Amino acid sequence: MLAGFLGEYGRERGVGHVVDDVVNVEIDQRGWITAVQTLDSGLIEGDLFVDCTGFRGLLINEALNEPFESFQDVLPNDRAVALRVPVDMEVHGIRPCTTATAMDAGWIWTIPLFNRLGTGYVYASDYCSPDQAEAELRAFVGPAAEELDANHLRMRIGRCRNSWVNNLRGDRSIECFRRATRVHRDLLHPARHRATRQAFPGGWLGFGACRPVQQARRDLRRRCP
Ligand SMILES: Cc1cc2nc3c(=O)[nH]c(=O)nc-3n(C[C@H](O)[C@H](O)[C@H](O)COP(=O)(O)OP(=O)(O)OC[C@H]3O[C@@H](n4cnc5c(N)ncnc54)[C@H](O)[C@@H]3O)c2cc1C
Repeated sequence: MLAGFLGEYGRERGVGHVVDDVVNVEIDQRGWITAVQTLDSGLIEGDLFVDCTGFRGLLINEALNEPFESFQDVLPNDRAVALRVPVDMEVHGIRPCTTATAMDAGWIWTIPLFNRLGTGYVYASDYCSPDQAEAELRAFVGPAAEELDANHLRMRIGRCRNSWVNNLRGDRSIECFRRATRVHRDLLHPARHRATRQAFPGGWLGFGACRPVQQARRDLRRRCP
């Protein structure tokens, strides 16, 4: 919903929006990214790049070779298996909170949504196989899990040594991902975006350029209180 809102908000104000696959990255002699080559939309040049390619770290790790520091030795939960469980909330009601349930090799999240429960088992693959985790999750959910497809995920636990490299900023799970303490990272988001903004005082990405973003935030808060 947020992505749709921001896309529409930007396009209405003349921001170009390209949806494509990045297939190559061009870097100058200083190690600054100058452009990304896309599959169908050609070369896209830029001054500032934000890498949001998740665990892959396409720009920051693959192109700029920024090292990834693993936290695996102290946070061993590196895999997850998830189910989308349809529930009629009109009949069963909806819990007002997410529930975390301790398991032998990790924990299960249960997130109530309007038409389903999002649930999954985050576990340490050193101590539990994917089949075993799926079986335990299905047993936890009960008969409602029958016939549902399970989604298995691998997670890269740790952080990039630096989340800002030359003219590239890594965002979200690139910067840091540890399933146990995500809320701390999310609380850091506003501070990080402020830091990005302040790195370009008075330039093309100065405070003036950020006013539409602040306005968008206010609009979003009004529409989705
Ligand atoms: C098991 C699990 C459960 C979670 N549950 C929740 C939750 O309940 N609530 C919550 O808020 N968060 C949750 N999260 C966290 C949330 O999913 C992540 O924090 C968030 O998705 C990370 O966003 P991201 O943009 O870093 O990466 P991603 O969401 O992984 O997005 C990466 C994007 O990069 C794109 N990409 C990759 N390569 C290329 C390329 N070459 N060219 C173009 N595009 C490319 C991919 O297509 C993808 O769209 C969960 C995470 C996990 C692993």
